[in-house]
Amino acid sequence: MSANKGRYALPVILERLHKAHPNAKYELNWDDPLQLLVATILAAQCTDERVNQVTATLFKKYPNAQAYASADLDELSEDVRPTGFFREKAKAIQATCEALVQRFGGQVPRDMDDMLTLPRVARKTANVVLTNAYDIPSGIVVDTHVARVAQRLGLVDEEKPEKIETELMDLVPKNEWIFFGPAVILHGRYTCTASSPKCPTCILEDVCEKRGVDGEESSEEGGTMAKAKGKGKAPKKASAPVHRDEDSAPTSSRSSAGRTKTSAGGSMKPEAIPESWRAVLAPEFDKPYFKTLKQFVEEERSKHTVFPPEEDVFNALKYTPFDEMKVLLLGQDPYHDVGQAHGLCFSVRPGVKPPPSLVNMFKELKDDLGCKIPNHGCLEGWAKQGVLLLNAVLTVRAHEPASHANHGWETFTDAVIQALNARAKPVVFALWGGYAQKKAKKVKNPQHRVVKAAHPSPLSAARFRGSRPYTAINRALEEVGEEPIDWRIPDLP
Ligand code: SF4
Repeated sequence: MSANKGRYALPVILERLHKAHPNAKYELNWDDPLQLLVATILAAQCTDERVNQVTATLFKKYPNAQAYASADLDELSEDVRPTGFFREKAKAIQATCEALVQRFGGQVPRDMDDMLTLPRVARKTANVVLTNAYDIPSGIVVDTHVARVAQRLGLVDEEKPEKIETELMDLVPKNEWIFFGPAVILHGRYTCTASSPKCPTCILEDVCEKRGVDGEESSEEGGTMAKAKGKGKAPKKASAPVHRDEDSAPTSSRSSAGRTKTSAGGSMKPEAIPESWRAVLAPEFDKPYFKTLKQFVEEERSKHTVFPPEEDVFNALKYTPFDEMKVLLLGQDPYHDVGQAHGLCFSVRPGVKPPPSLVNMFKELKDDLGCKIPNHGCLEGWAKQGVLLLNAVLTVRAHEPASHANHGWETFTDAVIQALNARAKPVVFALWGGYAQKKAKKVKNPQHRVVKAAHPSPLSAARFRGSRPYTAINRALEEVGEEPIDWRIPDLP
């Protein structure tokens, strides 16, 4: 460790962050602590702008904790639907407000220990509320940006958010805790980004240890953005987004570049998947096979182009929460051509030509249900209705199909299937083609349904066409008492 970098340079780092972000604060709109708490819960995996649109009416409709506690859960879910993961968030808000009413007279407590007794409230949310609403330096907000930037700068050695926060609290003077979180979030959002840190123009370049960063710009986007924004500073108006896993939020608008020379492995940690899945899959990340797999994928990314981009690897889990998924549509391997794979099996980003299997799926969709063939190949709409579009292998080296098979992903995705099999709520397992159908033996519980069809690839299209797989899935859903999927895919403008 150099004597003028990392921890040793903290005073310089703080001074420059103050200069770059003198008014660093979060961007959520709120008027009282309860509103901030609700907005923070809604901000998980969602932009602050979208949350603000929703809360503009939500806060009028639900003026206090009692109103949320006694709300109809379905209605509350609909009210927060645009923020994504709406059922989970509505349940979290209601459970939290019930606890506030029962134990705190409807008021948000001013103490960390009390905050942590609230259901679904962890340190990060508690810190956002206590530091902002009450100006209490309860700790340091550590989200994915803060974790990444602090590690790269050399301020911390730990990897888990709670431990990073402890290290930072030991290091950063208490009178800076409230400022530090939002300021570092801004730095991470606009300069020290996950896949393209703009080191040459970074205000902290000379005091940064650049741990896990090889010092090169990793994409054309990085260079262009740095020039456009000037010296790597955030736009003046910017405030820090509160949403906790912004880097891992599902997105179809990000760069399609798969190569990430600067990966710190952040995309293959439990924090990279949403809470609903973390509850059932977190142990997998600690198992020896997953550590080997993580190392393999990181090495691959350092030497080759790998698809999908690291922030999209777990998109299937992000779009379709564990407790809201109804159908598993199992694919095999991500698409291996540039720009195609974005973490949902069979799906491609808008603007990318649908590959032959997807074309066959659309033709069959038209024959089966009369749905118009859409002008794009993005299946996000299905995922958001509860269709888990999961490949058995989640990464691939560019132009080398199945190059990441047999390195551990199959064990991980088998764990997903096992978790679904163990779930009381029924699942329809749609297994297309021989590879997927081998997984049928893992579905043992009688509440579930298995629906088989041929694979839509040109090799087996003759058997896939006419099999009416969409009708079969909807029929199975109705059999188990679930709403059918609306398979229509609206055109994009
Ligand atoms: S952008 Fe580069 S120099 Fe700046 S903090 Fe991040 S890793 Fe360090």
